[in-house]
Amino acid sequence: MEKEKEFYERLNAKGVSRRDFMKYCTFLTATMGLSSSFVPKVAEVFAAPKQRPPVVWLHLGECTGCSESTLRSMYPWIDELVLEILSIEYHETIMTASGDQAEENLHNAIKKYDGKFICVVEGAIPLKYPGYGRVAGKDFIDIAKEVVPHAAATIAIGSCANFGGIPAAAPNPGGYTGLGEALGMEGKIVNIAGCPPNPINLVGTIVNYLLLGKLPALDDLGRPLFAYAKTIHDSCPRRSHFENDEMVEEFGSEEAALGYCLYKVGCRGPETYNNCAVAKFNDGTSWPVEAGHPCIGCSEPQFWDNMTPFYEEL
Ligand code: SF4
Ligand code: SF4
Repeated sequence: MEKEKEFYERLNAKGVSRRDFMKYCTFLTATMGLSSSFVPKVAEVFAAPKQRPPVVWLHLGECTGCSESTLRSMYPWIDELVLEILSIEYHETIMTASGDQAEENLHNAIKKYDGKFICVVEGAIPLKYPGYGRVAGKDFIDIAKEVVPHAAATIAIGSCANFGGIPAAAPNPGGYTGLGEALGMEGKIVNIAGCPPNPINLVGTIVNYLLLGKLPALDDLGRPLFAYAKTIHDSCPRRSHFENDEMVEEFGSEEAALGYCLYKVGCRGPETYNNCAVAKFNDGTSWPVEAGHPCIGCSEPQFWDNMTPFYEEL
């Protein structure tokens, strides 16, 4: 009770009311595909956590956009919430330690929390030329092999870690590969797909784990079904225009101003599985298609090769 009181006081000090927080929990619960009866339990995961699982967050071949989007997510205070429920033991972007001390933190965390920590991996692994990416003199693949098998659960965040992403774009000279494939662990690693993914899908996966004691059900590409079961096209508010053949043929046109369908200017929504239309970005403000930009299919494997040129009809 005391813990909970302190939590709400901390939120209050940041100008976040209990009502704002409950609104977020309701949204998160719905995104996770749970009934509204779970809202108080979801709130409890943040307000009175029974456990704070240790997290080791690895940066491999990537741009750090996934970390940035998580830490500057749609609610300005969600980073605090994430830090409330997790104990971040190693994260190269936000940790104060550097050099030998950072390495020591990593090794200590793996040893101390063997089989108990959550490993989050951001970025792809160059298998053809392993030396393309190294930290502390170790190739990315060796770092992944050293850490991932000791984790209780591993989450690959972003299309780079899932399927190779931008580093794997043709001709992919480094032979960049997603984490699951690189370690031969496909289906055992949760892929939060997108470039970057919506942070709500990472938070939903972690809360699912803390609340229900297991990782969410996955599709055949390792993506949580609560977020990636439907295509963008399935939930798109422009769908009626698609059905009526009301199409934008040119950006800046009258049809574009009328919010017509973006299929002819390259929308990949019919082939892309993600919950952008429902979860939205930036405090639920909008998402690319709503803002007038075609979906580029960033949560699908090899989207830089398979979905380009982006502005041409499928
Ligand atoms: S998935 Fe996109 S945002 Fe995330 S690290 Fe890769 S390139 Fe950056
Ligand atoms: S804008 Fe894209 S996702 Fe929306 S209806 Fe048209 S093709 Fe489908």
